[in-house]
Amino acid sequence: MTGNNAGDSTAAATNLDAAVIGAGFAGLYALKKLRDELGLDTLAFDKAGGVGGTWYWNRYPGALSDSESHVYCYSWDDELLRTWPHKSKYVPQPEILKYLEHVAERHDLYKDIRLNTGITSAVFDEDAARWQLTTDDGQTYSAKYLVTAVGLLAATNIPKIEGMDRFKGKIYHTSRWPSDAGIEGKRVGVIGTGSTGVQFITATAPVVNHLTVFQRSPQYSVPVGNGPLSEAELEEIRRDYPKIWEGVRKSALAFGFEESTRPLASVSDEERERIFDKAWAKGGGFRFMFETFGDIATDEAANKAAQDYIRRKIDQIVNDPETARKLKPNDLHAKRPLCDSGYYQTFNRDNVSLVHIGENPIVEMTENGIRTADGVEHELDILVFATGFDAVDGNYKRMDLRGRGGLQMRDHWSEGPAAYLSIGTVGFPNMFMVLGPNGPFTNLPPSIEAEVEWISDAIGYMERNHVATIEATPQAEAEWVRTCEEIASQTLFPKADSWIFGTNIPGKKKTIYFYMGGLGAFRDTLAAVANDDYRGFTLERELVNATTG
Ligand SMILES: Cc1cc2nc3c(=O)[nH]c(=O)nc-3n(C[C@H](O)[C@H](O)[C@H](O)COP(=O)(O)OP(=O)(O)OC[C@H]3O[C@@H](n4cnc5c(N)ncnc54)[C@H](O)[C@@H]3O)c2cc1C
Repeated sequence: MTGNNAGDSTAAATNLDAAVIGAGFAGLYALKKLRDELGLDTLAFDKAGGVGGTWYWNRYPGALSDSESHVYCYSWDDELLRTWPHKSKYVPQPEILKYLEHVAERHDLYKDIRLNTGITSAVFDEDAARWQLTTDDGQTYSAKYLVTAVGLLAATNIPKIEGMDRFKGKIYHTSRWPSDAGIEGKRVGVIGTGSTGVQFITATAPVVNHLTVFQRSPQYSVPVGNGPLSEAELEEIRRDYPKIWEGVRKSALAFGFEESTRPLASVSDEERERIFDKAWAKGGGFRFMFETFGDIATDEAANKAAQDYIRRKIDQIVNDPETARKLKPNDLHAKRPLCDSGYYQTFNRDNVSLVHIGENPIVEMTENGIRTADGVEHELDILVFATGFDAVDGNYKRMDLRGRGGLQMRDHWSEGPAAYLSIGTVGFPNMFMVLGPNGPFTNLPPSIEAEVEWISDAIGYMERNHVATIEATPQAEAEWVRTCEEIASQTLFPKADSWIFGTNIPGKKKTIYFYMGGLGAFRDTLAAVANDDYRGFTLERELVNATTG
């Protein structure tokens, strides 16, 4: 039974077997596995007022998955797969939230989730070999296992702008969108044109009085191709699910389509154009980059062909040549690929203006809006930050998280985060990260499942074999990071500035945040490590077991 000492700050820590931080896709599944399959006393904590993680927080207009609905879900609940009524090809935020709330209800998870409860500190007590947790309302918990499911796009990033406190209007971050935002009929400014910005801009332009888009860098975006899923299509998906999931688990990107191996140079110019046209008509950012040709992300000439195609599309779509010029990127098409529901078309509207702050930087905020270097004051009622996240390690550094010898995670990762298999890091025994640094770059639920299942198996092994602690070795971690670096260096991704290498945040070190070897290879490695007695981890037996033989 899990105890509760709510309201009694002097009470001794509540003892748990396992504590899970986060109640999104990762935390919900971790709670389910540890509690229901291993029978461990487990509690999950989330500072949010509900479950859902990303989809609890990101309620901005236009919020939509860019993974297709039938693979942006769990694969482990057969009955749910056969009955959940996916309505459209991509999933709007309210639908994903509804799905995750349904999962929590259906599996009776709520009773073991403490919502509105932030974990402010987690400290490893070496003598007891247990984690000591403190919540933001002063409660304390002790747990042998700590699963951090804190999200890789969850720690908000708000850049500092001179004079921000002078602004008399309202300021919102897209991931903290208030239900009474009241943007209709207002003069709205938005900073950022990444995945969120592109969705937000397209959705809000028709309802605001005026939208001023402050673009930090131009983006390659392709149509998302969203639309309703018919009953017949859904039936077909349900019938094919075993095959679909098998393909997803073996694939590189886990997006549920066959990744192309065809080199771009292997086809004629006409054929290339036909393939791109087909992908543009069908939609999907990952599809455009990875289903068309096998080398857009690895070969500069192939990448250039994709860039040129999208630049031509921008020229065709955008009426004003100067606006089109500003919208056209000139760098590699090597960020997380974007897709949209009419992004470039939005700039043909009379009530939308584009300020390229890459060329004409923001100088300050005034009482009335934003002043740019050309001296223009852009008057606004509301400023929206679509500036994304302190990705991957952000939430780890925002907690007081201490491992062996009081080692602070902030210090441990001061030169950039590193982890073994994205799950363990040196000096933090019995802490299991889901989607920690150096994890797969994919459609994420299948990677979350792979990691949670591995973690649950490892904890099961520890329980059966009286293992007190498990900890990544420095050699294994360094080797894994090298592997990630080597694989990334064979792609074009490190050559583009983006959050996937930490370069969206001034001062954040450019480093390798992902394993780009694909989910299939990642799963094989996880299995091989477990089968090889948890190679690369040090396991210490419990003393009681050692003395009793
Ligand atoms: C707008 C947007 C669109 C996205 N679209 C896609 C997509 O189409 N496909 C895709 O694969 N991925 C997408 N992602 C990534 C998405 O984050 C993952 O797919 C997935 O939802 C991650 O689940 P998670 O459980 O790991 O983390 P999250 O859903 O981020 O949940 C983490 C939770 O941890 C909680 N938490 C963190 N620190 C603490 C603390 N100290 N104490 C208590 N609670 C804490 C947070 O409140 C949060 O609720 C998108 C992300 C965003 C922001």
